[in-house]
Amino acid sequence: MIFAEVIVDISVKSLDRPFQYRVPEELQEEAVIGALVVIPFGKGNRQMKGYIIGLSEIPKYDVSKTKSILRIEKQGVAAESHLLSLAYWIKENYGATMNDAIKTVMPVRREVKERVVRRIFPEVPAEELLRWREEFDRKHNSARVRLLDGLLHSEEAFRQGIAYDYAVKELKVSSTVIRGLEERKLIAVSAKQFYRNPVVDLAKTEKRKRLNPEQQFIVDSFCRDIEAGVCKNYLIHGVTGSGKTEVYIELIEKILARGKQAIVLIPEIALTFQTVSRFYARFGNKVSLMHSKLSQGERFDQFTRAKRGEIQIMIGPRSVLFTPFSELGLIIMDEEHEPGYQSDHPPKYHAREVAVQRGKMLHASVVFGSATPSLEAYYRCETGQYQLFRLDKRAGCALPPKVQIVDLREELRAKNFSVFSRALQERMTECLQKQEQIMLFINRRGYAGFVSCRQCGEVIRCDSCSVSMKPHEYQGRIHLLKCHYCGAQKPMPSVCPSCGSKYIGTFGLGTQQVEDMVKKRFPAARVLRMDADTTSGKEGHDKILKKFAGHQADILVGTQMIVKGHDFENVTLVGVLAADLSLNAGSYRAAERTFQLLAQAAGRAGRGRKQGHVIFQTYQPGHYSICCAAKEDYVSFYRQELAVRQLLHYPPLSNILEVLACSENREEVLRLSGDLKKELQKFQDIIILGPVDAPIAKLKGLYRRTLFVKAAEYSLLCRSKDCLEAFMRTHEHYKNCRLTFDFNR
Ligand code: ADP
Ligand code: ZN
Ligand code: ZN
Repeated sequence: MIFAEVIVDISVKSLDRPFQYRVPEELQEEAVIGALVVIPFGKGNRQMKGYIIGLSEIPKYDVSKTKSILRIEKQGVAAESHLLSLAYWIKENYGATMNDAIKTVMPVRREVKERVVRRIFPEVPAEELLRWREEFDRKHNSARVRLLDGLLHSEEAFRQGIAYDYAVKELKVSSTVIRGLEERKLIAVSAKQFYRNPVVDLAKTEKRKRLNPEQQFIVDSFCRDIEAGVCKNYLIHGVTGSGKTEVYIELIEKILARGKQAIVLIPEIALTFQTVSRFYARFGNKVSLMHSKLSQGERFDQFTRAKRGEIQIMIGPRSVLFTPFSELGLIIMDEEHEPGYQSDHPPKYHAREVAVQRGKMLHASVVFGSATPSLEAYYRCETGQYQLFRLDKRAGCALPPKVQIVDLREELRAKNFSVFSRALQERMTECLQKQEQIMLFINRRGYAGFVSCRQCGEVIRCDSCSVSMKPHEYQGRIHLLKCHYCGAQKPMPSVCPSCGSKYIGTFGLGTQQVEDMVKKRFPAARVLRMDADTTSGKEGHDKILKKFAGHQADILVGTQMIVKGHDFENVTLVGVLAADLSLNAGSYRAAERTFQLLAQAAGRAGRGRKQGHVIFQTYQPGHYSICCAAKEDYVSFYRQELAVRQLLHYPPLSNILEVLACSENREEVLRLSGDLKKELQKFQDIIILGPVDAPIAKLKGLYRRTLFVKAAEYSLLCRSKDCLEAFMRTHEHYKNCRLTFDFNR
């Protein structure tokens, strides 16, 4: 006998839990996961619709009382059912409740009515608005001028309008003035916040480009596959500026011509006006855009538009992967290597894997693009799961930058204790003299502290995991170093174990600190700083970049935020102050992240006609991630890094699962993590590391312990996860503890 787990149709809003139904013999063939079924529900056996999200042969309740599915709806499989089966796949592969998984793939309709926010939008192009502003200024209509200034204040204000309340309260513009301008058709007041189609302003500038032979080759191969009815996964490996976006646009056109739809994933940080407007310019109002500032309700509306067929292209970060298009033909994922594609709350899915799965379910093609592909993606090209394309040349005329690696150990020997090497100082001086601009970059991503020798560059690492060990302080002194994966410990050495130098200690560098030092060393230079502190305001990020673009500063100091997507013509020098910060981040991905960050940082220099210079400062000048980034040699980096991953059983050659156990009670979490380990020991062919305290051992009142599990087969990790979930279900006394799973982060 077969039983189906059925989730009641979401429009009836009761998606709390699945209910078990019997599948009658005659329906067993059609009863697949995702199928839309009619079931008798509740006491009155009211007929309701639902979706099958799981099948099994084991009844949960008394079989004689289990009701049967009445029939299976045949009106084609709806977008929802595809998404439900995707949710089920996510739950199975990443570990989460079905509820969490469903919420991930379908934004829930909000019960509460959202407050209506009226906004004011410009109705004419910016130039015309400017002319009107001058006119009003001449006539001393200062309220009108204030309103137009508000709209012209920034690109964002012009594009998204300004809040009506803001105009009245802050700009002190009366409703009569607003109505007057509305009647003149200079502005429009609308209750809905939406992205205006900027095509009006851009249509003139965006001409269709003639693809170069490399670009054309990709488009032709893609078309041939599509014609033959083959849907594949592709990776376009091409440096920044090699014309990937141009190819994406062309591919979308081909897909739309076949009456299908496309999803374009772009990391939030790269979702700039520049990028998005290129899609608008070509496809006009067929495009919709989603971003994290939209509310749940707005997200829901966007999805509804997609479902109704009002739009054909959805652009946005991770979550737009679940846009309910009925004829999805293409998923594009730009900057495929970005960590932001991996969800950081359960289910902790990776959009790359889910994109492939969704493509497979719907018979859609998937195109990944990156200048620095993840090891996963490139490895899959080698194993034939993705097809590889390359774009080696920059499409524009920019020259590749000149890159220099500076050995910081030499600086110490020459008694230079500053964070700026002699080479960097010289270049900076030169640059400032020529009135060119400089970016100084501190790559702190994932940085957790490490201990190294300033004399020889030695970093204290875990002997079995090869990652840098994290210092633990006690009464203001570091006494212990710990491995974040396996928990191995070493005492803090007093001299360098490699060269005997006493210059051994923790290493750190903050943006504030660097800003101060720049000001001291170059007092005449105008300095801007960009990090989490200075960009906290809503428009802080844009404001700083705009200032820098307008040459209101000579030097921009910042974290990885500054290396993304912005072109500054006048920047001719990029300095990475300590490549070691990301290189010793304590994760097996540290070398990969370092390569990516350095390659990206280097790509910022010399975007205009002038020659760009790049300096990487480091204590490990011989490290392959640094050398290869300097030479823009991805393949050589990939080969060396893959060898390391193979040796230590890390992805993509193996798989790693992090199990995080949390409890309010420290004793309990200690006991639980020990019990979990015992459960896992029942498996063969897996490696168990830990349990150890998580890097953040206590968070929001919960004690946290982690276990890492490595296995060659992903499915084995899934089975381990299932086993632990079953353990939690059957051990009542741990009901106050929680487990979360994180695969291959
Ligand atoms: P990527 O997405 O790889 O960074 P883009 O598609 O943004 O590259 O292209 C970089 C620049 O080169 C853009 O300004 C784009 O307009 C231009 N470009 C791209 N392809 C061509 C082409 N075939 N002919 C002329 N210019 C091109
Ligand atoms: Zn040393
Ligand atoms: Zn270790």
